[in-house]
Amino acid sequence: MLHSKIFVKTKKEAPTDEVSKNAILLHKANYIYKEMAGVYSYLPFGLRTLNKIENLVRKHMDKIGNEIFMSSLAPKELWERTGRIDEVDVLFKATAANENSKNKSNNEYILNSTHEELVTPIADDFAKSYKDFPLAYYQIQTKFRNEPRAKSGLLRGREFRMKDLYSFHTSEADFLKYYEQAKKSYMDFYNDVGLGEDTFIASASGGDFTKMFSHEFQTVVDAGEDVIYIDREDKVSYNKEVVSDNAEENIKNFGKDISQLEQVKACEVGNIFPLENKFTKAFNFQYTDENNQKQIVSYMGCYGIGPSRVMGVLVEKYGDDKGLVWPKNVAPFAIEIISLHKENNNQDNVFKVANDIYANLNSENGEFAGEVLFDDRNLGVGNKLNDADLYGIPMQIIVGQKNLDRNIIEVKVRKTGEVIELDSTLSSQELAYEIKGIWNRVF
Ligand code: ATP
Ligand code: MG
Repeated sequence: MLHSKIFVKTKKEAPTDEVSKNAILLHKANYIYKEMAGVYSYLPFGLRTLNKIENLVRKHMDKIGNEIFMSSLAPKELWERTGRIDEVDVLFKATAANENSKNKSNNEYILNSTHEELVTPIADDFAKSYKDFPLAYYQIQTKFRNEPRAKSGLLRGREFRMKDLYSFHTSEADFLKYYEQAKKSYMDFYNDVGLGEDTFIASASGGDFTKMFSHEFQTVVDAGEDVIYIDREDKVSYNKEVVSDNAEENIKNFGKDISQLEQVKACEVGNIFPLENKFTKAFNFQYTDENNQKQIVSYMGCYGIGPSRVMGVLVEKYGDDKGLVWPKNVAPFAIEIISLHKENNNQDNVFKVANDIYANLNSENGEFAGEVLFDDRNLGVGNKLNDADLYGIPMQIIVGQKNLDRNIIEVKVRKTGEVIELDSTLSSQELAYEIKGIWNRVF
């Protein structure tokens, strides 16, 4: 993609009320645009990264469920049915300006903060016999919650992206089997996104819904709101808030004492927990069992991932004093070609060399098709190099006259700053081949 056709401009400063590293860097690099506290729009670079994260979510969730897309707006009756309309204090309620104001109580809608109230009737509509189980639906959607502490950029939005998956089972054994599969798919996702090494499955108490267990996927990061105990070797971890006798016992099973575990700050990038029959009962979701008896579905699970929070965590973890640093699978582009030309036309040798490399790397059937950003703008050297560092694209290819005079093109790895020199007298095809080799070696 040509940079001159992307309508963004980097900024020197972020809005003065932004205090979190992720919001400041994403704003300066023009990935996001702040609408109000905890509410952001995504600009071209930011949306590419968010989409990549969400497509990786899809890759792993398609293995354990069907993707659907539920509505953001719900009739309030669904939320009355479960009683949660009065329980969830972060709920956004909506009214329509053109509806009779005298009759307002009838005309209230809910902007869903979560979707159990919607998914349960959908599953009920499909699954009538024990043969229809297990089943699992998931979606990736915008959620609305009036979070009181919306000061951490993408980490805690009042409007944010969530992947929520819901599974339904007729036996506990089947539920538990599925639950373990979900854990594995989750870890596969965090690995793909570049957080695998520092993400721990923390046992926590059941929370709102259940006396049973629940599990949080916690990524170690300074900006995290949670404190967890971890053991890197055995990959066990517990949320400090909930360490109970039970957890202490559990830790002993690993031959360790809680005082031996490392205490670190972490951010919850996902969680999974059983809902038992709370929602199936409220909606009277029944099925016919093997003996032709009607039964309430007794095992429901829910499984969340926060793609926009994951994006924020990646910035918090990897961003440095120069700007963003993206892992290769979620960077808006794989490679940025920076042409330090005077004029952006083929009369200018610098531009010509850079443009030829771009055409080769970006060629339709190539490994990097659509994944190359070409900074073809007429801007000063410093601006371009600073912008490239701020954007955080994993690999930079820098073409400038001084280097061409020495028959050199520079390849720079954003994360480490390592610079590899290539022979500029090679054909653009040969150069593309060399660049692929470096990519495969480094990433
Ligand atoms: P938290 O304890 O951080 O408020 P939660 O327990 O409310 O999270 P869920 O309702 O289970 O989380 O949501 C599933 C996932 O969605 C969370 O694990 C998190 O990654 C993400 N998430 C939750 N709330 C937000 C938010 N306000 N902004 C961004 N992501 C969020
Ligand atoms: Mg919450």
